[in-house]
Amino acid sequence: MKEIKVGDSCFTGDFVVIAGPCAIESEDQLRQTVQAIRKNTDILRAGAYKPRTSPDSFQGLKEEGLKILKKVATEFDIPTVTEILDPRDLEVVLDHTDMLQIGSRNMANFELLKEVGKTDKPILFKRGFGATIDEWIASSKYILSGRNDKIIFCERGIRTFETKMRFTLDLAGAIYLKQNYDFPVIIDPSHATGNPKLIPPLVKATKAAGLDGVMVEVHINPSEAKVDADQALTPDEFNLLFV
Ligand code: PEP
Ligand code: MN
Repeated sequence: MKEIKVGDSCFTGDFVVIAGPCAIESEDQLRQTVQAIRKNTDILRAGAYKPRTSPDSFQGLKEEGLKILKKVATEFDIPTVTEILDPRDLEVVLDHTDMLQIGSRNMANFELLKEVGKTDKPILFKRGFGATIDEWIASSKYILSGRNDKIIFCERGIRTFETKMRFTLDLAGAIYLKQNYDFPVIIDPSHATGNPKLIPPLVKATKAAGLDGVMVEVHINPSEAKVDADQALTPDEFNLLFV
């Protein structure tokens, strides 16, 4: 398997921990969060462009958010991943992050995939919540067609008849993908469950399954979070995952 490195971590070999708030809300919010989680975090996640179900919800700080992300990441010497929604933002996003995230809602946005495929940044490629594994693999070929083969697959839950959780985590599917396709696979238990209590055991399960890492949402003050408040861990809860 090809070596995919982001900062000091290597997705082919290490168990990579990606953590941070769902959205960048302010410089203080991001700095306080990073300060509290830095010691256990390999890559900082935080969204500047948020793909919200309703256009009336907070859409992210956009370019201002990207600037905050880069500033705070430089202060703490931590690499970053952030979501790109629109090929028109590619240039500015590339200038401000180390890794591009393709979100669940854009897994089959083929024009976007072709554009990120022309870059040399690693791609965190989330599964569409209504997509089969074969569809996910087929979509990844649009990224590969641009000659970018630094793809990290992220299982983040799919829609099923089950309503207890926000989505249904397809852990077996993630393991199947890892066994049958030559790319790293990580798990996002935050979006998969929407439930902070389920995150610690699922991080353990991800490690036990031999997968390549996790992505977890952490907020300095979850009840005040502008996006995904119900699922964010506090920094203390997050740090407890590593004792
Ligand atoms: C996110 O990571 O903040 C996000 C929007 O995730 P997803 O695309 O999996 O819903
Ligand atoms: Mn989120």
